[in-house]
Amino acid sequence: MPEGHTIHRLAKDYAAAFATGAPLRVTSPQGKFSDAAALLDHTPLHTTDAHGKHLFLGFSNGFRDADWIHIHLGLFGKVTFGPAPAPPPTDTVRLRLADGTAYVDLRGPTTCALITDPEKQAIHDRLGPDPLRPDADPAAAYRRISRSRTTIAALLMDQKVIAGVGNVYRAEVLFRHRIDPYRPGRDITPAEWDALWTDLVGLMHEGVRHNRIDTVRPEHTPEAMGRPPRVDDHGGEVYVYRRAHQPCHLCGEQIRTAGLAARNLFWCPSCQRRP
Ligand SMILES: [Zn+2]
Repeated sequence: MPEGHTIHRLAKDYAAAFATGAPLRVTSPQGKFSDAAALLDHTPLHTTDAHGKHLFLGFSNGFRDADWIHIHLGLFGKVTFGPAPAPPPTDTVRLRLADGTAYVDLRGPTTCALITDPEKQAIHDRLGPDPLRPDADPAAAYRRISRSRTTIAALLMDQKVIAGVGNVYRAEVLFRHRIDPYRPGRDITPAEWDALWTDLVGLMHEGVRHNRIDTVRPEHTPEAMGRPPRVDDHGGEVYVYRRAHQPCHLCGEQIRTAGLAARNLFWCPSCQRRP
């Protein structure tokens, strides 16, 4: 499942692809979004927005406040960009946006729906703060974390607590702060939370810029350590994610893995101990 940095990157890329403000052809070659596409056809993309793993494409047709296409990629959703002229679409394309310069195809999303401003607001309201949004309030997340007996590793994956963090960022940020992933939320101190949040803001912004997740500090890069670079289809240099049974870059201990909150957790049992 893509993490928040991918969705924020898509919001920027959609906006950049149609920056001229020209009216778009909005179609649903697959047919599942045809009625809504017909309502939006020949209107320009006005703005884009992202919150956690939710992407919003804003259209303004002059008659209503705004219409939004709400997209959640889920596990299988995929977005592809290309220059005009768009090739004939395959029947797996749920949503195609196209103008004289570019086209963007969306395939296989969990959600692709036309929603109103209030409906969009309701989605924001049920999500936790997103480290990539300037309006995010980290104290709102800490209020929930500091009252919870649930593990910090599970809380970081709960989109109602904090939005946009996925399996890679949760494992890596806990390692970077030497926090045992099984510690209950209520044992996380305000200072630890401040440090985790600040680090997530920095790491995730870097993820948007580079379109991949790199979490190792400069002194732990392959060049600095004289070690071979990581080989993984996920890309990026990391401390623990998908490194089970390999030696920790800091202490040499074997990285461990276990299921937690429906996903595989990775951590170093030596670096990440309870205080
Ligand atoms: Zn270690």
